[in-house]
Amino acid sequence: MKEILSAQIFLFNTNKTKSVDFRVKELKKFKKILKENEDLLYKAIYTDFGKSEFETYMTELSGIYHEINIAVKKLKKWSKHKKVKTNFSNFPAKSYIIPEPLGNTLIIGAWNYPFNLSLTPVVASLAAGNTVVLKPSELPSETSKIMAKIINENFTKDYFHVIEGGEKETSELLKLKFDKIFFTGSIPVGKIVCQAAAKNLTPVTLELGGKSPTFVLADADIPISVKRIVWAKFLNAGQTCVAPDYVLVDKSIEKKFLNALKKEIEKNYKVENDITENYSRIINNKNFDRLNNLLDKEKIFCGGKINKKNRLITPTVMQNISFEDAIMKDEIFGPILPVIAFTNLNDAINKVKQRAKPLACYIYSKNKRLINKLLSEISFGGGAVNESLMHLTNPNLPFGGVGFSGIGNYHGEAGFRTFSHYKSILHKGFGFETKLKYFPYSAKKLKKLKNILE
Ligand code: NAD
Repeated sequence: MKEILSAQIFLFNTNKTKSVDFRVKELKKFKKILKENEDLLYKAIYTDFGKSEFETYMTELSGIYHEINIAVKKLKKWSKHKKVKTNFSNFPAKSYIIPEPLGNTLIIGAWNYPFNLSLTPVVASLAAGNTVVLKPSELPSETSKIMAKIINENFTKDYFHVIEGGEKETSELLKLKFDKIFFTGSIPVGKIVCQAAAKNLTPVTLELGGKSPTFVLADADIPISVKRIVWAKFLNAGQTCVAPDYVLVDKSIEKKFLNALKKEIEKNYKVENDITENYSRIINNKNFDRLNNLLDKEKIFCGGKINKKNRLITPTVMQNISFEDAIMKDEIFGPILPVIAFTNLNDAINKVKQRAKPLACYIYSKNKRLINKLLSEISFGGGAVNESLMHLTNPNLPFGGVGFSGIGNYHGEAGFRTFSHYKSILHKGFGFETKLKYFPYSAKKLKKLKNILE
C-alpha cells in the first residue's frame, strides 16, 4: 500500500494528471474499458446479487457512463480559472480562483451498488486531476474482483489502482496520508474513517445512511404514489441508501394506501421461494438474520415470506407501527416497509425531527403549502416531491447527506468540486502603489482608511 501511494505521490508531483487533455483521455479510456467488459460486470453482479442485466444497467452502469460523459464535456469549463471582482482596497488588480486537484485520493466503496458507489466518485476524482486508490466493498466478492482485474490491468498503479480487502486492509489504508478520503458506508464506520483522517487533517466526504421518511398526505394521488414508493423501496430488495425507509401516511387514507401497496406489490413481485430475475437477494446471512428478526408477525400486512437458503425476503409491508417499534430503531436496509398512520402532521414532523437527520425525505401531496412546510421544517440530505429516489439520477443536484447522514456531496460538478481545492489569487502589476498601508502610521492615515473601508 505504501509503495502504491508513494508511486501515486510521485506521479502527481510530475503534474501529468493536471492536464485537462490527460484527464479527458483517461476518462474516455475508462468508459471504453467498462464498455468492453460490460458482460463480465453483469455476470459479477448476477453472481453476487442475482440481479438482472436491466437493473444492473439502470442502477449501476448508466450512472457511471453518464458521469463520465458530463465530465468529458464540461471539464474544460469546470477547471477554468474563475474571475471574480476585486475589492476597492486592492485596486488595481485582478482576482481569480484556480480549481486544483487535491492530490492523492482514497475512495472506499459500499456493497449495495458496488460499481456505482465505487466508480462514480472515481470519475469525479480523476476528472478533478487526482490519482486514486479504490478500496471496494469486500462483501460482493465477484464485483470487487472484477473491478480490481479490469482496472489494475488497464491503468498504471501510480495513477489509478484497486486494493481489495475488508476491515483489516481498510484500516491499514487509513493509516496512510492521503489528500482526500471519500467514504460510502455505514455511520459507525464513517466515524472510524473520520477519526483516522483527523490524524492527518485529511478532508473527508462521508456518504452515509439513515432512516429516510416518506410522507403521504391526504390529498396524494394514491395509485401513482404507491407505484413510485414500491419501485423505490423494493429495488435491490430495499438495500438502497435512499430507499424510503418508512411511510408516514395520513390516517384518513391509511386503509386505501395499504390496500394499494399490497396490490402493486402482488402485481410486480411474483416471488415465492426462488429468486426471480428482477428481485435481489439479501447480501449475506448476517443481514438476512437481522432483517428476519425485524419481521413482527402480528404486524405484517402483506409479504413476510422468507427463504434462508436463497437469502430471500419477499416485499413486506408492516402496519400499526409506532415510532417505538423495533423496526423504527435503525435503518432497515431491506425489503420491509413499515407504515405509520398520523392524525396530526406537526406531531409527525416533530417525531422525524427528534431523530438523526435523514439522507432523503419524500413528500407525496398536491398541497403547495404543506409541501413547503415539510421542505423547510425538516433537515435532510436531499429528496423528492411526488417521487422517490430519482433525485440522485440528476447530476445537477449535489448528492449527499447532512448531520449523521453524511458530510459533503458529489455527482456532476459537485463531484468535481469535492475533489478539488479552490485556490484564491489576487494578481497585481508593479505599477500603481498606495502609501496608505505602510509605515509610518498616522491619525490622518487612519481617518483616510476609515473613509475608504467603512
Ligand atoms: P460499511 O460501513 O460496513 O462498509 C463500507 C466500507 O467500509 C467497506 O468498503 C468495508 O470494507 C469498510 N469497512 C467496514 N468495516 C470497517 C472498519 N471497521 N474499519 C474500516 N473499514 C471498514 O457499510 P456497508 O454495509 O457497505 O453499506 C451499508 C451502509 O452504507 C448503509 O448504512 C447505507 O445507508 C450506507 N450507504 C450510503 C450511501 C450513500 O450514498 N450515502 C450509499 C450506499 C450505502
